[in-house]
Amino acid sequence: MSNELVEKLSEEKFAGKNPEWKEAKWGDIKVLCAWDDKNWYYKNGEVIYVQAKEGPGNSTSHCYGCGTEIEFGAQRQSKWLEEFDGPVGDGSVKLKHIPYCPTCEKEPEETSVIVEEGSLY
Ligand SMILES: [Zn+2]
Repeated sequence: MSNELVEKLSEEKFAGKNPEWKEAKWGDIKVLCAWDDKNWYYKNGEVIYVQAKEGPGNSTSHCYGCGTEIEFGAQRQSKWLEEFDGPVGDGSVKLKHIPYCPTCEKEPEETSVIVEEGSLY
């Protein structure tokens, strides 16, 4: 977690207080969410995304750290159950929409494999 970024956010937007982060979903990822009168703040690991609640910026969001507009990548995730010799299971594939900052983060892989460990038992 980038504490610097969180500190900057709390100073600039939350009058020096720590934002109250709540677990939330944005796109198809789990994020931590905080908000003030004007914006939603989504924290995804090291990166914080800002989305205006209303106004011209309503439909777009940007990266708090660098100001770059957030993009969504589509990722096909196949789910497998863990087995003794490689993954087994139905390998059901779901299309996920994953937000990312093109400057601070890598574009999400087009495919990923999720192994649910221990779900056989
Ligand atoms: Zn960025």
